[in-house]
Amino acid sequence: MVTANENCTFCHLQNTTLFYEDDEFIAFKDIRPATKHHYLVIPRMHMKNVSSLKKKDILIVKKMVEIGQSILEKESASIENVRFGFHLPPFNSIAHLHLHVISSVDEMGFLSRLIFRPDSYWFMTANTLLERLEKMDEQ
Ligand SMILES: [Zn+2]
Ligand SMILES: [Zn+2]
Repeated sequence: MVTANENCTFCHLQNTTLFYEDDEFIAFKDIRPATKHHYLVIPRMHMKNVSSLKKKDILIVKKMVEIGQSILEKESASIENVRFGFHLPPFNSIAHLHLHVISSVDEMGFLSRLIFRPDSYWFMTANTLLERLEKMDEQ
């Protein structure tokens, strides 16, 4: 099942090299990479952002993280010094849930360090998101 949003770039990707794909998720390079290995993992189905996630979505987030890790391994990128996370609304430039997978953190310039600052008002790491979802009540 694919639910697309008419105005969403990520629902209508064209001519994009995919680094991963299955029935539910795809991954591709960020168009403005912060480091040599900077990928975005997204669900094919349109999901708005981290604020719309519920406890039941934990598996989706975990799967996105796994996909990110597998891409880094396949591309022989560092899997230790990495940053995995999500932009928070209204700081998410594209309103389709996407996990930033960035390796390695050492390569990040000043601006990137700011844009992807862990657990700032605008960027939440995947681990923090998972912790928050775990604490939520079932819905
Ligand atoms: Zn979308
Ligand atoms: Zn983003």
